[in-house]
Amino acid sequence: MPPEVNAITDLTKAERERILAKSALFDPPDAALADGRRDLVGMDREELGAELAAIGEKPFRVKQLWHWIYHQGVTDFSRMSSIARPLQEKLAERFVIGRPDPVVVQTSTDETRKFLFRFRDGQEAETVYIPDPVEDRGAVCISSQVGCTLSCRFCHTGTQTLVRNLGAPEIVGQFMAARDSYGEWPSPKGETPRLLSTIVLMGMGEPLYNYTNVSKAMRIVMDGEGIGLSRRRITLSTSGVVPMMDRAGAELGVNLAVSLHAVTNELRDVLVPLNRKYPIEELIAACRRYPGSSNARRITFEYVMLKGVNDSAAEARELVRLIAGLPAKVNLIPFNPWPGSQYETSTPAAVAKFSRIVSDAGISAPVRTPRGRDISAACGQLKTDSKRERTAISVPV
Ligand code: SF4
Repeated sequence: MPPEVNAITDLTKAERERILAKSALFDPPDAALADGRRDLVGMDREELGAELAAIGEKPFRVKQLWHWIYHQGVTDFSRMSSIARPLQEKLAERFVIGRPDPVVVQTSTDETRKFLFRFRDGQEAETVYIPDPVEDRGAVCISSQVGCTLSCRFCHTGTQTLVRNLGAPEIVGQFMAARDSYGEWPSPKGETPRLLSTIVLMGMGEPLYNYTNVSKAMRIVMDGEGIGLSRRRITLSTSGVVPMMDRAGAELGVNLAVSLHAVTNELRDVLVPLNRKYPIEELIAACRRYPGSSNARRITFEYVMLKGVNDSAAEARELVRLIAGLPAKVNLIPFNPWPGSQYETSTPAAVAKFSRIVSDAGISAPVRTPRGRDISAACGQLKTDSKRERTAISVPV
């Protein structure tokens, strides 16, 4: 391998390590409750096996418990009918099957449902269920952090300092609690329709800045003996943490969405400040090498339409040039205003023209209908009152 390629590989590895080390500063709380019991949700099979071995139980119990927790969705050991009463009691003394606490649940006039979940340490994050308007299915938009480091200009969440990362139990727990709300247990199998049919990691936070917890949670979600959502039903959205995109692609193989929002570095540096670190050329190059993308599994580019800022015909044509040859789809998102936001939504005519230019170039460019606007559940509107207890740490990106 030529030395310059080695240098790039080394740099990327160093970058990855830097991101993971920084992420550890914002670790979620431990799995143990105040009374010493431990939450089994969010443990992988090995960890579950170790917990059970520590109380003298055989390895086959892992499969049994996994089934009850992730397929049947029970939260009470006494409902595990294949487990004898003495063991149910022993488990209940030592463990819980937790859920985040849905402190506020709001349902929009368009049936979108927003949950404000409170976690054990009192921190909060939002989750949104967006039902398909015509079919019995829908997407659960999950948060990966409380707050966000990235301060994207058009995003309300970005005005909230990063409080902490969410742990794997809290990430899986959002999906499980949303399922509780719709009574969708046991996990639908095979062709049985699922109301909660896909996961989009597009809620609060940048998932690739919390990769360890996000990847662990997604592996649990994808396990075929539990929740059983395939990687094709999971979309990870990133603002462009380039070194981690390669890793997520190789290890998880989920669908990729990229918050693009601008076609020049000059403008993207403003709208998505992470661009100063990983500019558009590097981002698009990472998309081009993202494994598994094809016309059947296209990379989604999210593009928020801001009046007079990024919505011209010339920018539409530049977008086409940038992503030419990629199996791609562009989601055009009319801007969802929030209190204090400095932008306006593009006119319908500007959005339609932009969409037409991109579609005429053979790239699908649907205009996303805003969902849940009346309950502030639409894209970029999520925010909680959670604050970091210590002096806010501003993490340079
Ligand atoms: S768009 Fe995403 S990455 Fe950017 S500030 Fe909002 S939550 Fe953070």
